[in-house]
Amino acid sequence: MTRLLEDRFGRVATDLRVSLTDRCNLRCSYCMPEEGPDWLANERLLSDDEVVRLVRVGVEQLGIREVRFTGGEPLVRRGIVDIVRRSREIDPALELSLTSNALGLARMAPALAEAGLNRVNISLDTIRAETFHTITRRDRLHDVVAGLEAAHAAGLGPVKINAVLLRGVNDDQAAELLGWAIEHGYHLRFIEQMPLDAQHGWTREQMVTADEILASLEAVFDLSPAVEPRGSAPAELFLVNGGAATVGVIASVTRPFCGDCDRVRLTADGQVRNCLFAREESDLRAALRAGASDEELADRWVIAMRGKRAGHGIDDPTFLQPDRPMSAIGG
Ligand code: SAM
Ligand code: SF4
Repeated sequence: MTRLLEDRFGRVATDLRVSLTDRCNLRCSYCMPEEGPDWLANERLLSDDEVVRLVRVGVEQLGIREVRFTGGEPLVRRGIVDIVRRSREIDPALELSLTSNALGLARMAPALAEAGLNRVNISLDTIRAETFHTITRRDRLHDVVAGLEAAHAAGLGPVKINAVLLRGVNDDQAAELLGWAIEHGYHLRFIEQMPLDAQHGWTREQMVTADEILASLEAVFDLSPAVEPRGSAPAELFLVNGGAATVGVIASVTRPFCGDCDRVRLTADGQVRNCLFAREESDLRAALRAGASDEELADRWVIAMRGKRAGHGIDDPTFLQPDRPMSAIGG
C-alpha cells in the first residue's frame, strides 16, 4: 500500500535527493573548506544495495516520483552507473537525474544515459578559468565544459546549469555566463548563496540577492516573466529577449518557496533529512542494518516527515546553520 510522505502542513514529498558520497574533487568556497574535511568512514556509507533498497522503499511504498543523485560529487562514487541502472529497474516512469560538477562526465555520460538517467544538473559559476580556480580552488574548467558537451550529446537533457554568484568574485559575470549558456543550448539557473558552507562564513550582506542578479542580467538582456506557473519548482523563470531561451533565478533566501516544498533528502550515511536546514535527522541506516522490513523503514520515514518545519527560518534571530555543510547533506 502506498502511503505519502506528508508533513503537518499538508506538503507531500515526491522528490527524493540521494547523496551518494560526501567526497568531492572540487573545493567550492561556498560549500567546502580548502583542506579536508574528514570524510565519512566507508562503513558508515550506505552500500549500493542499501541505497537501491531505500530508493525502492521510497518509490514503491511512499509515492516518490523523482530521484536525484547528488553529493559531494556523485560521479566519484564507484557504483553510480549500477545504482542508476537498478533504480531505473524499479520504475520505468521514475524521473532520474544527477546533480554534478561534471568532472568525469565526459567519460561517463553515455553509460549513465544507457543505464536510464534522464537528465543532469551541472554546477558552473563562471566560464573564466581564473575565476573558476578562485571559486573551486582547482583548475578544471575544461573538464566541466567537456562534461557538459558529453551530457548534451548523450541526450541527458535539457542540460541545466546551476550557478552561484559571489560578491566581488563572479557577480560581474552573470550576463556573460547566460550568453554562453544560451549559445550552447544549456538552461541556466542562478541560486542565491545559502548558509551551508563548511566554514560558516555566509552573511546576508555578502550574499548576492535575486534582485541584484536580475538587475545585472537586465543590463544586457530583455527579461520577461515566463508564463509557466512556478508550482513546486523553485526557479522563477524568465524569457530572454522574448525568445526561446530562458533563465531561472532561485531566490531560496529572499523569496523562499518552503510552502511549496516537495523534497526529502537521504544523506550518504543513510539519514533522512526533511529539509536542507533540518536540525534533526532520522537514522534509516541503523534500522536497515538491524534487519527492519521495508514496511518498518517506510514507517520511520513517514514519522521523520512529521517534524518538518514550515520554513528554513534563515531570517529568524534564532536561526542556526546546520552542523553539516552542503557537501555532506547533499545539495
Ligand atoms: N558536487 C555536485 C555539484 O556541485 O553539482 C553536487 C553537490 S553540490 C552540494 C549541489 C549544488 O549545491 C551545487 O549546484 C552547488 O552550487 C550548490 N551549493 C553548494 N553550496 C551552496 C550554498 N552555500 N548555497 C547555494 N548553493 C550551494
Ligand atoms: Fe563539490 Fe559540488 Fe560542493 Fe563544489 S558544490 S565543493 S563541486 S560538492
